[in-house]
Amino acid sequence: MSDQWIKIYRASSPIEAELLGGLLRAEGIQVHVPNNPSAGGVGELPADAIETAIYVMPDASDAAKQILNLYEQNSANNAEWYCSGCGELNPGSFEECWQCQKERPIKD
Ligand SMILES: [Zn+2]
Repeated sequence: MSDQWIKIYRASSPIEAELLGGLLRAEGIQVHVPNNPSAGGVGELPADAIETAIYVMPDASDAAKQILNLYEQNSANNAEWYCSGCGELNPGSFEECWQCQKERPIKD
């Protein structure tokens, strides 16, 4: 039995780190995301100073890597899109147009 966390991923932001941590936890993987030192209103830290690493237990690292790879593929596909109804530009995370609520076009 080991409690040596291993760093498996470096997220681009603390928000992404939290999101990915949640994703892994949802798959039953134990995750350690160190506290964001900028939390609590310190603010204005250079990006490098913000800890965004994600740690997992060694025995979960393979499964975690698979999930993170999938996430990266999905986020690469997750580009902004134009609504086919009103032509509005929507963020990739939106499933329907923020303006007219038309569904996002299906991608192949
Ligand atoms: Zn629209």
